[in-house]
Amino acid sequence: MLALSRKIIIERGIITEISHSDNLEITIDGRTLKFPPEATAVAGFVDCHGHIAGYGMRLSEVSLKDCQNIQDCIAKLRNTQLFRGEWITAFGWNHESWTDNSLPTKEPLDEAFPDTPVYLTRQDGHSALVNSAALKIAHINELTQNPQGGEIVRTYDGKPTGMLIDNAMALVEKHIPDYSIEQYTEFIKIALAELTKFGITQAHDMDTETRFVPIFNELELAGKMSIRVKSFVRAQNNEWLRDCVLPYKGDFFKVQGLKYFLDGALGSYGAALTRGYDDNERKSGFLLLDENTLFNYAKRGILSNFDVAMHAIGDAAVNLALNVAEKLRTDSLVGGRGTIRIEHAQMVLPNDLPRFAKLNVVASVQPYHYTSDTNGMAQRRIGSRMRFSYLWESFIQNGATIIAGSDFPIEQPSVIDGVRSFITRKSSLDGVVYSPNERLSIFEALDAYCVAPHRIHNDISLFGSLEIGKIADLTILSANPLLLQNDPDIQIDVLATIVGGKVVFLNS
Ligand SMILES: [Zn+2]
Repeated sequence: MLALSRKIIIERGIITEISHSDNLEITIDGRTLKFPPEATAVAGFVDCHGHIAGYGMRLSEVSLKDCQNIQDCIAKLRNTQLFRGEWITAFGWNHESWTDNSLPTKEPLDEAFPDTPVYLTRQDGHSALVNSAALKIAHINELTQNPQGGEIVRTYDGKPTGMLIDNAMALVEKHIPDYSIEQYTEFIKIALAELTKFGITQAHDMDTETRFVPIFNELELAGKMSIRVKSFVRAQNNEWLRDCVLPYKGDFFKVQGLKYFLDGALGSYGAALTRGYDDNERKSGFLLLDENTLFNYAKRGILSNFDVAMHAIGDAAVNLALNVAEKLRTDSLVGGRGTIRIEHAQMVLPNDLPRFAKLNVVASVQPYHYTSDTNGMAQRRIGSRMRFSYLWESFIQNGATIIAGSDFPIEQPSVIDGVRSFITRKSSLDGVVYSPNERLSIFEALDAYCVAPHRIHNDISLFGSLEIGKIADLTILSANPLLLQNDPDIQIDVLATIVGGKVVFLNS
């Protein structure tokens, strides 16, 4: 899979020759790119779990993260080109890091934007600051009651200050128009271009909204897909049936599968656990679909030639996913067809571990989530159950296949950082390595990003290695990634990304 000091010839998108050379040299349809001696070509990186439109939106929206006070925020908002309808929206402010730590109020916003409604989400997503124009549209005044689970922050005489907490946010949010399809098209283009900078040649887009499918179709027809995308379409309520979305197999865009949510996340106590959370015994999360419904939905999907991806984080959700997989695998009509993936698969009951291999269920994991979650949050939420969580090597030892992704925009889509997490497994709080036996070798880590994603979706004959006759999807790195095994902190940059013999990113 690795090509150090090689001469690679690519013609019309296919690798046609590989021979020895002093430096890495890649000739594409007669034009030669030369790289430094340590540069290494690997089979193109695949990010198996991300959200393309959401990533582009995050890259495009005004971020208030670095603002020091409300005036900084206003200055940034004045320059925004991005409107939802007539609304100005932005995210990321945090008064804890401002010069004045008191909760902001609407007055400065009213002065700057007397007629334009403004909605500014705080960094944690649990509160928002809005101006008077926004309150007026939402009919919020001193007589409005607080909704259940939310608060309209008020002055001493009962007038709204502009701060909305938790469920009170929805009172305003529901009035903000969505972005237009043109804006979403732009977000998708921006995200695809950004992904090339991380060496990614293919991304699996999770929970693709059905209305985005024609956007990808058009980009592909126009030759504007900078990387390959496999879509797992939103299917929680059979949206694909309602909107007549069927499997589609283009060169750059594929409607590959359906995506179901079985539970939420650990941070917000939404992951469905078999017993209470360690730091809140009364809570154990929620299952979002029952076994029969999910089985019937997924069966219908597989019979229509879709693959199936099930989001499951808590051990109860993973158990449910495996039960459904078992019913699908033994169903006479389904006849063993379809790739079945469990997205995240973060907590696994010991008895469930062997079922992954037995039922041919793929574990689609995000190594960097381990790094982020171990900032203390995961340790508090699940305590001793950390031992059966964020499993990697156990899956492999039990005969299962793992594939890897970042869940961008939740995390940066850096494959190199993901590989580092896989092989070091250091927690972000104190560097403690929970279950060191779960660490992967560098070969296993690279397999999960470069090879296994093609194996599980049956296109390994065309992708997943640098071989004559294969499609030229390559990632060029500044150093041999095998060096990470002994020296996980060395810097490795992406020098170029090549998709179908086309240079889509060149680090110059
Ligand atoms: Zn996700």
